[in-house]
Amino acid sequence: MKVELITHTPDPEKICAIAAHSWCAKDFTASSSEQLTDGEINNILKKMMKIGHHSVIEHANFTFYISDVSRVLSHQLVRHRIASYSQQSQKCVQLNEPSFITPQSIKKNPEANEKYRKIMDEIWEGYRFLINEGIDADDARLILPNATTTAIIVTMNARELRHFFEVRCCMRANWEIRKMAYAMLKEVRKVAPIFFEESGPRCDICQEPLLNCKKNTKKK
Ligand SMILES: Cc1cc2nc3c(=O)[nH]c(=O)nc-3n(C[C@H](O)[C@H](O)[C@H](O)COP(=O)(O)OP(=O)(O)OC[C@H]3O[C@@H](n4cnc5c(N)ncnc54)[C@H](O)[C@@H]3O)c2cc1C
Repeated sequence: MKVELITHTPDPEKICAIAAHSWCAKDFTASSSEQLTDGEINNILKKMMKIGHHSVIEHANFTFYISDVSRVLSHQLVRHRIASYSQQSQKCVQLNEPSFITPQSIKKNPEANEKYRKIMDEIWEGYRFLINEGIDADDARLILPNATTTAIIVTMNARELRHFFEVRCCMRANWEIRKMAYAMLKEVRKVAPIFFEESGPRCDICQEPLLNCKKNTKKK
């Protein structure tokens, strides 16, 4: 798995503080807001987050390139609707060699691992056979498994990212997307610590009476 923060809104926290500042500044001008100090930015944003005015942090966008992840992960990822996606096409990019994710649970079981690899080899052999028969990649790809690797670019704003981290850093989320979510969180914390320092699973308010893992995964 590779998780790269490609780009983000310049001064993401400052632009959101400016947006919040514009609410109450009688003589607001873009240049006067530019003068906000780091301390003022910190105070404004913390206040807005505390009182629940999260719309102001929608002005900050973050774009990631995620690669070497499974199609299971990408399917779960794109369920998050307040985002933009561009995914590698299986029509344009033919996977000539087997390229798939193997979970630890299978890796550490030699028999299961052998069976898994054998089935993957057979699938790719079948895929190549269809391509060699002149079947369009658009149709041949139907034989490929959920484990097939993919690459996807995703852009989310800070508000959606915080929601994403709440549900996908949680122990209830699948291990692969959880790993990706923590890698994304690590990257955005470097550039927008005020938004993301407390971001992560909501263990404090876990509403899962049956699935509550009783683990606080926040610090992971
Ligand atoms: C552990 C786990 C297990 C899951 N299992 C399943 C499963 O078995 N089957 C399945 O189908 N899905 C499953 N999901 C996916 C889940 O149901 C959501 O589709 C996914 O987490 C996207 O989150 P979201 O809907 O909160 O919102 P996002 O799309 O990320 O949107 C963010 C927020 O915007 C608001 N919003 C967005 N769109 C609308 C809208 N149209 N109307 C009103 N408000 C909106 C909501 O407040 C929402 O929370 C699972 C998710 C997790 C984390």
